[in-house]
Amino acid sequence: MNEILEKLNSIDGIEVELQKDLKKYSTMRLDAIGDLVTVKNVEALKKVTKYMTDNGLNYRTLGWGANMLIPATSPVPYLQLDFPLDRNIFEKPQDEYVLPASVALATLTSHASKFGLKGWEVFTGIPASLGGAIFMNAGTNLGEIGSLIKEVKLITKNGEEKLIKIDQHSFTYRHNHFVNQGDVIYEARLIHFGISEGITHKIREYLEMRNRTQPLKEWTCGCIFKNNQNLLSGVTCRAGLFIDIMGLKGFTYKNLRISPKHANFMENSGESSYEDVLRMINVLQKELKLQTGVTFETEVEY
Ligand SMILES: Cc1cc2nc3c(=O)[nH]c(=O)nc-3n(C[C@H](O)[C@H](O)[C@H](O)COP(=O)(O)OP(=O)(O)OC[C@H]3O[C@@H](n4cnc5c(N)ncnc54)[C@H](O)[C@@H]3O)c2cc1C
Repeated sequence: MNEILEKLNSIDGIEVELQKDLKKYSTMRLDAIGDLVTVKNVEALKKVTKYMTDNGLNYRTLGWGANMLIPATSPVPYLQLDFPLDRNIFEKPQDEYVLPASVALATLTSHASKFGLKGWEVFTGIPASLGGAIFMNAGTNLGEIGSLIKEVKLITKNGEEKLIKIDQHSFTYRHNHFVNQGDVIYEARLIHFGISEGITHKIREYLEMRNRTQPLKEWTCGCIFKNNQNLLSGVTCRAGLFIDIMGLKGFTYKNLRISPKHANFMENSGESSYEDVLRMINVLQKELKLQTGVTFETEVEY
């Protein structure tokens, strides 16, 4: 694998780092070593995906690692985008925005808060790259990012460019229906629903509420479980509430703790391994099923 990856280093817009310490590449900060390929423009991205596929090498696309558990070692390299961003676009509100997938949602939230962009409050406080947020259809109880996306551009594993026109079937809860294995989203076109002064206030209030109710300073991967939406009854079963009712807030295993602030978050106090996290998830999932009868799927990817 090393020889294949080293050859990529000679291509303009690609940086290969072998056996890199990846601890800082996921918000859970699990100890991990892996090969990282950073891609800085679309032509380079086409070359990377095609070259890896032609050489029988899979890869894993990494955004901000806010929804990913990275194992201690990985048989495949990680591919991360670092495209240039024209910050002039944020100097005043636009009718629509064409943005690279590597832009941070926090940058978009600051812009929305400054100018009061209606609709953009839905992703307030979510740590993510735009690409990762689209992949996950990230959202809050104010809504989901999918409602703002009009088009997505991606590069397939064969280095081909694809334009996806978003429609009502493109997204469901924390899920997209258009990214195939090996596809890398590199750009998206976003809209908003007008300007409203109230949005600035709404975003600030929401951020304060998140700070109060979620462990944002700790190392976590966000919510462990998706809420269970019972299609028959229409009732949403909230995983955090159920874990709380079971009395597991504060439950600790090695260096992992169910957050006392929000029971659907698991905090890593320093030296936890990928295996420790999986063990804890497994125990919680079984206990939830046993005590409530509800099967909760994990939101975090591993
Ligand atoms: C403190 C905290 C709070 C959180 N709160 C929320 C919340 O309120 N709502 C919510 O929805 N989520 C929340 N999350 C989870 C996380 O922020 C979201 O799932 C987010 O969308 C992940 O984005 P990312 O860039 O980190 O993607 P990653 O975690 O790096 O990747 C997630 C998935 O997207 C894929 N992917 C990433 N980039 C691309 C790309 N360019 N092309 C194709 N595939 C790609 C990856 O391969 C992976 O499968 C929270 C996480 C934390 C740590």
